Order: sequence, then C-alpha cells, then structure tokens
Amino acid sequence: MAMESYDVIVIGMGGMGSSAAYHLAARGQRVLGLEQFGPAHDKGASHGGSRITRQSYFEDPAYVPLLLRTYELWEKLERDSGRDLMTLTGGLFMGPADSLTVAGSRRSSEQWGLTHEVLDAAEIRRRFPVFRPGPDDVALFEAKAGILRPEAAVEANLTLAARLGAQLRFHEPVEAWSADGDGVTVRTGVATYRAGSLVICPGAWAPRLLADLGVPMTVERQVQFWFAPEGGIEPFLPDRQPIFIWEGPPGTQVYGFPALDGPDGGVKVAFFRRGEVTDPDAIDRSIRPEEVAFIAEHLRTRVPAAAGRFLRGKTCMYTNTPDEHFVVARHPGHERVTVACGFSGHGFKFVPVVGEILADLALTGATSHPIALFDPGRPMRG
Ligand SMILES: Cc1cc2nc3c(=O)[nH]c(=O)nc-3n(C[C@H](O)[C@H](O)[C@H](O)COP(=O)(O)OP(=O)(O)OC[C@H]3O[C@@H](n4cnc5c(N)ncnc54)[C@H](O)[C@@H]3O)c2cc1C
Repeated sequence: MAMESYDVIVIGMGGMGSSAAYHLAARGQRVLGLEQFGPAHDKGASHGGSRITRQSYFEDPAYVPLLLRTYELWEKLERDSGRDLMTLTGGLFMGPADSLTVAGSRRSSEQWGLTHEVLDAAEIRRRFPVFRPGPDDVALFEAKAGILRPEAAVEANLTLAARLGAQLRFHEPVEAWSADGDGVTVRTGVATYRAGSLVICPGAWAPRLLADLGVPMTVERQVQFWFAPEGGIEPFLPDRQPIFIWEGPPGTQVYGFPALDGPDGGVKVAFFRRGEVTDPDAIDRSIRPEEVAFIAEHLRTRVPAAAGRFLRGKTCMYTNTPDEHFVVARHPGHERVTVACGFSGHGFKFVPVVGEILADLALTGATSHPIALFDPGRPMRG
C-alpha cells in the first residue's frame, strides 16, 4: 500500500492541536490530525468544563495583543460552530496591592489602556458579598474576563477541521517522527505517514515527543474541585458572581468560577500552582481526602459559602517551562517542524490565536503576531 501523504500533519488533538488543524484546513491545506485518545478527552489539559479568560494579564503585558486577537477569534469560533464557548462574567483579581495578581493585572491594564476598576476591601464586600477580603486585600475588576468551555471548544475545532477536509485519527498514538530535506515522516502503531511539514502540540507528553527541543519542562498534577455552596447557589450564579483569582500567603493563588451547570454542577475552585510533579502515563487520578480538606480550609476564611459539600474532583496536568511562559515556534533543529508546548497552566484562553500562529509558522515560517516571549532559545530564569 502506498504511504499516505499530506501537506501538514498535526500531532495532538487537544486544545492547541485541534485549533491548528482547523486553521490549517481553513487555509486549504490537506491536514492529518493524530491523537492518542478520543475526541475532547479528559486525560490531558483541556477538560473540566471551564477555563478562565482575561485580558489584564498579570503574567506579562506582552500577552495582551495576543489576548485581544484571541477574543476576536473566540467570537468567530462561536459563530462558525454555532456553539456557546465564551461567557463574560467579569473577573476579580485579588490580594495585597503589591501582589503579582493585583499589581501585575494593573500593569497590563494601564500599559494597554484596558478598562478596569480597582476596588478596596469594603467595595469588594459591598459588590460581591460572598468574598471576605482582609483589610489589606484589594481587587482589580475586569468586565471582559469570563469563562471558556474547553471540551466544547475542542469539539468545535475538530468539527470545523473535519468539515474542511482534515483527516482526524483518534486512538492512534504517534511512536516516532523525523524530518529531512524533503518533508517529515510520522510513525504510529498502525501506519507511517509523510507530509511537507509537521506541527507538534503534545501537551504533557512534550518531554517525550520534544526531548530535543532543549527546554526543560515539568509536568504537574493539578486538581479541580467542585463544591455545593452552603446556603444554595443563587449568590454564585454567573450573572452575580465573577470568576476570581485570589493571591494569599506568598505564592498561593486560589481561583474559582460561578455555578455554571445548575444545582448539581456546583462551584469549581482550584489552586493555581502547588501541583506535584507527575508522569502523564502514571498520574494518580484519584482525589485524596486531605487535598479536599486543604482547599476547603483555605476557602473557609475567604469564600466561606463556597466550601459546602464536596461534590467531585478531577485531575488535570500543567506542563511548565522554567519561566512559565509558553513555547510557540519553529523547531530550532528542524525547519519543517513547528511546536507549541509548555503552556504552564494558563494556555487555554490562547487556543484560537495559537492555532492561527501555528498555521502562519507552518506555512510561511513567520507570523505577524508578537511571539518573541515564546522562543525556545530565550534565557529562562527558574
Ligand atoms: C486544572 C487546570 C486548570 C487550568 N485553567 C486554565 C484557565 O483557567 N485558563 C487558561 O487559559 N488555561 C488554563 N489551563 C491551562 C490550559 O488548559 C492548557 O494550557 C491547555 O489546555 C493546553 O493545551 P494543549 O493542547 O497544549 O494540551 P492538551 O489539550 O493536553 O493536548 C495535547 C494532546 O496531545 C496528545 N498527544 C500527546 N502525545 C501524543 C502522541 N504521542 N500521539 C498522539 N497524540 C498525542 C494528547 O493526548 C492530548 O490530546 C488549565 C489547565 C489545568 C490542568
């Protein structure tokens, strides 16, 4: 049998890869998408019903132009797919005035002229009574922050890509890839494929598939927790309750969502960092009573009504670079290979714009988007 041949092969049909497949197919490319699990699965990083989106980006103001573009593309993806993917609830970024969460959000807002308000503790309590800020807590409120639906977004990308002719193969793990002067070769358990170029979006499997990239990445086990709020869900409904990120004791950020899916859905909360190092094929997916108790205790003094009955938990994985900025670039060792990885727990909101950038890079080797921060060759402080 002749070897199947494509314009572009995309490895990994999670958030980033599904978006790349869609954008490449929309530009007329013959695309093959390969995924080791099923469509919109729950074993990587793009599941759990909700993701935060925001523009006043405390991590670095360099993300803001990409955020402005990603919002446009989220709206386009909603229109093209007919699916409800983004809900703007507003967002509260809380902590001491000099914390990364507050000061960093303020810096991005001021530098880019984003609409925002700064609230003191009394104002937070008055407008959002479920929160119990301490005397030193302040908040930046951003009306354009909100919620994304990760599984629906991945499904939307996959459906649109397939409609545009992309071949999508699930339950087909890639075992090896290589690149030469004429193209790329990708071997799975069932076949070997050729293409002109390759896009690799492997999520937590990056240390395995991109070992020669020269970027040390750490995979972290993270847990998303759902609780039934004490006293009913009314104060936590999305028209009254914003998403929040709250920085407490040094380095601790807890974040949460309104009650999205009715009384049985509950409110989702999690810690932003603090994950334990894991292996994507050996991760402990059970939820431990002591971690439920720990986050409930943390909420008790801050959002006490949220720490009601524990409903369920779900593990997920971060793939962290040393400086927690992404890697999105041409592979430094192979000009026919483009990579997107190391999203360090904050990549989902960028799914549409990363798909656009990957299509640019795979087809022309360059992009007009500002991605210098994501260069794998940058100095990465630990
Ligand atoms: C608990 C949690 C909360 C988060 N909250 C937010 C948030 O609020 N806002 C935000 O913006 N971001 C958030 N993130 C981060 C965001 O979800 C991730 O950055 C994003 O989903 C990463 O997408 P990805 O495509 O890189 O990874 P994935 O979606 O995991 O996709 C990688 C895919 O590659 C496939 N793959 C790997 N190896 C192979 C192989 N050999 N062959 C075939 N297929 C392969 C995997 O099976 C997987 O489907 C959160 C992440 C977690 C875990």
